[in-house]
Amino acid sequence: MNQRLKSLSLWLQHHDDSFAFITSSANVFYLSGFWCDPHERLLALLVFPDGEPVLVCPQMEIARARRAGWGYAVIGYDDSTDPWEEIHRHLQGRAITANTIAVEKSHLSFARFEQLSALFPNVQWLDAEETLRQLRLIKDEQEMKRLRQAAELADRAIEIGVSAIRPGVTELELVAVIEYELKKLGVEGMSFPTTVLTGARTADPHGVPGSAAVASGDFILFDLGVIVDGYCSDITRTVVCQTASDEQRLIYDTVLRAQQAAIDACRPQTALGAIDRAARSVIEQAGYGPYFTHRVGHGLGIEVHEHPSLHGANEELLVPGMVFTIEPGIYVPAIGGVRIEDDIAVTDSGGEVLTSFSKELIIV
Ligand code: MN
Ligand code: MN
Repeated sequence: MNQRLKSLSLWLQHHDDSFAFITSSANVFYLSGFWCDPHERLLALLVFPDGEPVLVCPQMEIARARRAGWGYAVIGYDDSTDPWEEIHRHLQGRAITANTIAVEKSHLSFARFEQLSALFPNVQWLDAEETLRQLRLIKDEQEMKRLRQAAELADRAIEIGVSAIRPGVTELELVAVIEYELKKLGVEGMSFPTTVLTGARTADPHGVPGSAAVASGDFILFDLGVIVDGYCSDITRTVVCQTASDEQRLIYDTVLRAQQAAIDACRPQTALGAIDRAARSVIEQAGYGPYFTHRVGHGLGIEVHEHPSLHGANEELLVPGMVFTIEPGIYVPAIGGVRIEDDIAVTDSGGEVLTSFSKELIIV
């Protein structure tokens, strides 16, 4: 068994007569190496304190699971078969009983909870999420390699986007150019829908690209990421078209100083909350405090948002092997917004910045 499965088995050994029923694609991938989006169908990985794990997946996915290296048992089912009956038969065959079932509380649907309850009446429920979160928190060498590649490609994507700016080009056209060029480079997927916003629309931290066209004097904000072998990057850069006003320069400079202060705060044994506070105090001192409306960053890995959360009240300590974003922003309605986002890996000596596209104010 791989070390990740062993760690989960070891944790289960603290709970008599138990097994884990893992259903999120991200955790199934982390534990098995097999990525599957099953849509509405059931995907599950059953892990036991002793004995081999078993994967439950649609029949048509079995070959892909094998190619991904899954060497243990698979319970496959087709669309006319009830997977719960198959699971029941498998567990009976192995004489597996359970007093306790560990599930991902925030992922398992109520319908599936009812199915499991019917198979195991009177069982105790345990949340496996914190254990899995702690395992995924510290990235190993192979994960770091993928995250570095994803960060390099994100830099490349920004370069492509910035090069394509000209007055009149629309947000969606810039998205299309970026994704077309990335596909030609062999990128299979984006971490999330690519964001390109222009003008005052950049003041919406979660704005959606549309047919708005770039005009002289606009901020243009790119927020994007790519997936490499299951691992995500996430980068934001903001540039200006042709001419920048004094206030645009002030906002940009403030966000850049805030971001650098947060990166500098990434020292081992610092509380994660101190990183948020470092950025926030720069922005507050410049008078833009009310316009920085979100936490400074989030963990990054198999999911584009994962543990840890870099909000001001998080007193968890920085540990080598963590990977997260640092992305302060100032969003002023009518003027626009600036966000600068990098991916950071925590090392023994501090924060290593994985994304490297220039952060000087670029005027295109
Ligand atoms: Mn982002
Ligand atoms: Mn982000």
